[in-house]
Amino acid sequence: MTMREPVLERAPPAVIVEIRVRGRVQGVGFRPTVWRLARSLGLSGDVRNDADGVLLRVRGTNDTIATFIERMEREQPPLGRIDHVETRAHSGCVPDEFCIVDSVGGEPRTQVTPDAVICPECAREILDPFARRFRYAFTNCTHCGPRFSIVRSIPYDRGNTTTAPFVMCEACGAEFTDPADRRFHAEAIACHACGPKPRLLRLDGRAISFDQHSMLDDVDAVCGLLQKGEIVEHRVLGGYQIACDATRADVVARLRELKRRDAKPFALMARDLDVIRRYCTVDAAHAAELTSPQGPIVLLPADGLHRLPDNVAPGLATLGFMLPTTPLHVLVLQRMERPVVMTSGNVSDEPQAITETQASARLSGIATYALVHDRAIATRLDDSVVRIMAGQVRVLRRSRGFAPAPVRLPPGFEEAPELLAMGGELKATFCLVKNGEAILSPHQGDLEDAATFDDYRNNLTLFRQLFDHAPKALVADQHPEYLSAKLARARADADHIPLIEVQHHHAHVASCLAENGYPLDGLPALGIVLDGLGWGDDGTVWGGEFLLAGYGGYRRLGTFKPVAMPGGAQAAREPWRNLYAHLMAEMGWARFTMNFADLDIHAFLAGKPRATLDAIMRNALNSPPASSCGRLFDAVSAAIGLCRERQAYEGEAAARLEAIVDRDTLHHEDEALAYPFSIPNLRGSGLPYIEPLAMWDAILGDLVLGTPAPVIAARFHKGLAKAIVAMTLKLARRDEGAALFEVVALSGGCFQNRVLFEDVARRLEEENFTVFSHAQVPPNDGGLALGQAAIAAAHLISTTQSQTKQKQTDGNTSCALGSPAAS
Ligand SMILES: [Zn+2]
Ligand SMILES: [Zn+2]
Repeated sequence: MTMREPVLERAPPAVIVEIRVRGRVQGVGFRPTVWRLARSLGLSGDVRNDADGVLLRVRGTNDTIATFIERMEREQPPLGRIDHVETRAHSGCVPDEFCIVDSVGGEPRTQVTPDAVICPECAREILDPFARRFRYAFTNCTHCGPRFSIVRSIPYDRGNTTTAPFVMCEACGAEFTDPADRRFHAEAIACHACGPKPRLLRLDGRAISFDQHSMLDDVDAVCGLLQKGEIVEHRVLGGYQIACDATRADVVARLRELKRRDAKPFALMARDLDVIRRYCTVDAAHAAELTSPQGPIVLLPADGLHRLPDNVAPGLATLGFMLPTTPLHVLVLQRMERPVVMTSGNVSDEPQAITETQASARLSGIATYALVHDRAIATRLDDSVVRIMAGQVRVLRRSRGFAPAPVRLPPGFEEAPELLAMGGELKATFCLVKNGEAILSPHQGDLEDAATFDDYRNNLTLFRQLFDHAPKALVADQHPEYLSAKLARARADADHIPLIEVQHHHAHVASCLAENGYPLDGLPALGIVLDGLGWGDDGTVWGGEFLLAGYGGYRRLGTFKPVAMPGGAQAAREPWRNLYAHLMAEMGWARFTMNFADLDIHAFLAGKPRATLDAIMRNALNSPPASSCGRLFDAVSAAIGLCRERQAYEGEAAARLEAIVDRDTLHHEDEALAYPFSIPNLRGSGLPYIEPLAMWDAILGDLVLGTPAPVIAARFHKGLAKAIVAMTLKLARRDEGAALFEVVALSGGCFQNRVLFEDVARRLEEENFTVFSHAQVPPNDGGLALGQAAIAAAHLISTTQSQTKQKQTDGNTSCALGSPAAS
């Protein structure tokens, strides 16, 4: 380094620049971060929240301002996310000392931030006997705590949240107004003196009889009750939850009985990772997700040294664990060495209760004790569920921590008009399109349940207000009976806006393409959509589809074998019906009896009302043919005897089949271990389809030989993955010159199956296809609304473009995107 010669230089002139920041910048401690940064760089000016995000005016030299912007983007608070920064010269004057100005109103545009789990600093505070918030169950700061679940309108300010009725005490007020404090403008700030309070009560109206003096407080008493085997209900961020000791089979059995939930796995919560590690393998990726601000339920392999009772997750090889998500959970579990069941406060498939009235009406028969509090819940939020597959975190249920963070639509969608896509029927969500972004609602549940459907309608209204949304069109599934589609038709009529109907599996493919940022003008990709059931454009039921698709349309290139579903909806619940239909379609009863009469599955099916089933199938009454991959899984699961009579929840038969897969057989290099499928063409349409006849002969043969079920399950998964890839190669027609497609998009609920997903994805990559799959959005029908929105947006954008070109308008108010050719 050489000494610089002293030069007399005039200081560079100061300029004033206006900086507009968009993204997740409100309610996350963004302004204090900027305040500290501006002061440390000696800049003057101010910063404010407004309807567009954050607006700054800074005075300084060009160099310093450039450094400031660069560091602002790099040193964001933990929950912040900058999407866009815009600068322009400003001609007014600014305060000499950099300051934070109060929020101003206006047309809301900015994001509503998802709730975040308690941060490490707050967790330390509530366990510190010398801290002001020692054992305070509603502690939060700008890095953590409730957001979406308490907000009623935006901008996100205390007055617009359910914390509004609580008047801040002096100490909280001082923290709230000190930009150097972690709680500066933490809108939900509260403490023992001024905030919401928890209260333990008995739901049967009797007085609490145990010795409360031996407990630290009402929250600690919950821990004592759990240790004694009680089922306790408590009110947390997004609704009511029910907890009990997960290590006691008798308590779990009692909860199942009271909750009328026979086999669906329960979610678990543990104090820390060490407790979880006794039961599950927790690798680095699992640990990162468990401790993330989203704090979802993570599906983990249940292969630790200790085992939980089988009735926690009957027949499954995974357990769904989360860490304490709120201060309340931290305090309840502090003395708890064991994991607890932490399930939503509802009966059967109803939505979880969020008000005290709902809770006492729906839950009084389940728990004896309830820990309640006096802060209202604005929006119900279930716990989110993720699974790590092929090394990546995949959201299977998107709610707390994730919703309503928007998904940016791919290039080409910038000019999309405001739209509302209504989603499907099971695992329903809806989706708003606004400003080139898709805002997916949290998981709503199964709309067939009346209370869930009510909730869905209320949330449609809430979202409309919260995002100041005025849809120019509604989008729905083509299914004639989906409640979401019926509601969309009625509303489009009433509001005189167009309704766009989208084919179910096309929506799945578009959802996968959209979340992978596939551009609007991208070449068509092959969508492989494997799910239970969806309405096909030919009026039959689809569920195992190979579609050449873009956002603008699709062509069905291949499918699974259509097999009758005797009893219709009943066949989706009773796996044996699909097995029977498959066997009758492939070999008939006489041949089945001739070769396999010794199998117990033969005796089982012989005991069923076969004559009735044969008659309805022969006369095509209430036995629609379905090309469904989900129903094939049901049939195989029934054949092996894993789930034969009835499924307790959607996908149970398939989940149990996946759970037992023998890893050695699966990973064995001998490809001949895979069960054979063939790919002939359907009579009539000539459509290639996956024919399982040879697979059935092989499975039944293996059953005769007494081959272990895990080996059969592995051979089935491996065979199916091979067949799917063989179909893809056949459809790509690479040998005829340029391939028809390079990109393959995997979607549909069957891809929640880790074994199937990983095997199909690996084999496709080995064949040099670019594989798209779901990560931010569920592969199941929870992701449907995003695809519907993208397809409708593409349609409206192209309509506007062609209208501009041709300068013609036509008065169509309804259109169906049935089967436009993609090529
Ligand atoms: Zn915090
Ligand atoms: Zn206070």
